[in-house]
Formats: sequence, C-alpha cells, structure tokens
Amino acid sequence: MNNNNILYGKGSAQDILEYVSDNVERLKGAGVHPRLVTIQIGEDPASQAYLASQMRSAEKVGIKSELVSLPDTVSQDEAVRTIESMNSDPSVHGIMLHMPVPKHIDGRALQWAINYKKDVEGVTPHNLGRLFLGRPVLAPCTALSAIHLIKATGAKLRGLEAVVLGRSDIVGKPASLMLTGLDCTVTVCHSGTSERGLLKEHVERADVLVASVGRPAFVKGEWIKPGAIVIDVGINYVDGKLVGDVEFEEAAKRAAFITPVPGGVGTVTTAYLLRNLIDAVDWQLKMEE
Ligand code: NAP
Repeated sequence: MNNNNILYGKGSAQDILEYVSDNVERLKGAGVHPRLVTIQIGEDPASQAYLASQMRSAEKVGIKSELVSLPDTVSQDEAVRTIESMNSDPSVHGIMLHMPVPKHIDGRALQWAINYKKDVEGVTPHNLGRLFLGRPVLAPCTALSAIHLIKATGAKLRGLEAVVLGRSDIVGKPASLMLTGLDCTVTVCHSGTSERGLLKEHVERADVLVASVGRPAFVKGEWIKPGAIVIDVGINYVDGKLVGDVEFEEAAKRAAFITPVPGGVGTVTTAYLLRNLIDAVDWQLKMEE
C-alpha cells in the first residue's frame, strides 16, 4: 500500500492548537483568561484517562481547564443549578457535560441548559439551529473535525456525491449539513438504509464518505469508489485494539484519501473543542447574539 493517501489528523490538530495558543495570548493580553469547565456526573473510571488528557491538552495551550464532579446521587434540578451558576459566572467561558450520565439524569436537558455562548460542544438547539441556517459559531467538534480533514485534501467539493453513514445529533446530522454548505450532494444513510439492503450501493457512488456508525468493519473495502475521500469517525474496540468503521487495508487501496483509526478524526476533535472555546470567548465579549 502507498501510504501517501493516509490522512493523518496530527498536522491539522497542531495547526488548530497553534491558532488556539496564539488566540489565548491575544485574549490574555486583553485581560481575559479562557476557562473551560467539564461537568462529570458519577464516577466512571473508563473516562478518567480521557478527561485527564483533555485537560492536559487545554493547559498546554494556556487554557484553564477544570473538572467539576457531581455525585451520581445528584438530582436533575441540582445539576441544572450547577450549570446555571456557571452560565452566570463571567469567568467561565466554556461548559461541557461529560457523557454518559447516570440513568436518572436527562443528559440532553442538561446540555440544553448550557448558555449557548458557552456551549463549546455545539449541542444546544440554538447552535444547532444556527448550523441549520448556515450561520454556525459553535458546532459539534467531531463533525467539524471530519469536515476539516475533508477540506485538508484540497479537493474541489462542489457537486461531489457525499454519503454520510449515521445520523446522530453530534456527528452524522451536523456533518451532512456542513457538507451541504460545501455544495456537495448529500445522502444520509442509517439503519433503515441497511434494512432495505441499500447501503452498499450508496457507499459505492460516494466521492466523499463519512462513516459514523460505530461498528467495526462495517464498510467493506471493496465498496469504496476509486479516488474517494474516506473519513472514518468510528471508534470500536476489537480484541482490545482500536479500529474504525471501515475495512482500512482494502479501502486504502482504492481511496484517494483515508483517515486512520486511531490517528485521524479523533486527533483533531479535541483541538476543535479548544478552538470552539476561543470562538466562545469572542462571542461572549461581543454584544451580538
Ligand atoms: P450513534 O449516536 O450511536 O449513531 C450511530 C448511527 O449509526 C445512527 O444514526 C444509526 O442509525 C446508524 N447505524 C447503526 N447501525 C446501522 C446499520 N446497521 N446500518 C446503517 N446505519 C446504522 O453514534 P455517534 O455518536 O454518531 O458515533 C458514531 C461513531 O463515531 C461511534 O463509533 C463513536 O464512538 C464515534 N465517535 C468518534 C468521535 C471522534 O472524535 N473520533 C466522536 C464521537 C463519536 P439509526 O439512526 O437508524 O439508529
């Protein structure tokens, strides 16, 4: 396999982090110290390493990053009050809720309680509405990351057939809206597509494929259109090994560009979270809605 077509996330992540670092300096020069708060409800040992690494990435670029841990006995109202107190604290610029949350908690309602100007994950109805209207400010980081990598190929996207596998609120739907905004012709596939046995034929005509299903080897390598851009968002563990949704080896023989897992989309996602924090601070400093 010729490795020139592997679209690693590292270079893009470094560029974004450099942008963030420069802007943190700019803001600090103006007396503003960007501060990100992550709320976690209940103990989840599996998440600790991830959260610690996310906080280290933030600190490296000069962002103050804090974890607020609420006990798993916390009530919905108490959790909402915690978010509201951060909404009204001008020293907090970004708020994110770590998922999953305990069963008795309505995570979506909590996310929606976040002030949209502090919504660094781009998950509030206001920010998703702006994305729908083509006026995004804070958009979901994973979708931003997928689109960043597509743009990094330098391909002329207007009129290309883009196929998105998955329609979640944080990946598939926002990615499909962003691709529409980039003038692609977009098809969104989901479980209904598979039930009709139509998935293969949609994948086969994709010039741009975004796979965000969460199933290992879900997209067969031989389905990939020669010359396609393949963005694999999937995170799956098989025998302790991290793999994406696409059969990488076979797909890489056909694709013009393909993201690896790990080392692709996920690498850029955290950088985008921090970039969103910069945009959030600037939005809060402006009077405009
Ligand atoms: P999700 O909410 O579970 O959504 C999965 C989507 O896949 C749904 O729309 C579902 O269709 C569709 N799907 C499931 N089975 C299917 C099938 N047999 N045929 C066609 N479509 C099928 O997942 P998500 O949050 O979007 O995440 C997707 C993947 O990306 C996961 O592996 C996740 O771990 C990964 N992820 C990666 C990052 C990153 O930074 N790299 C960030 C977030 C998520 P229905 O709507 O019909 O059920």
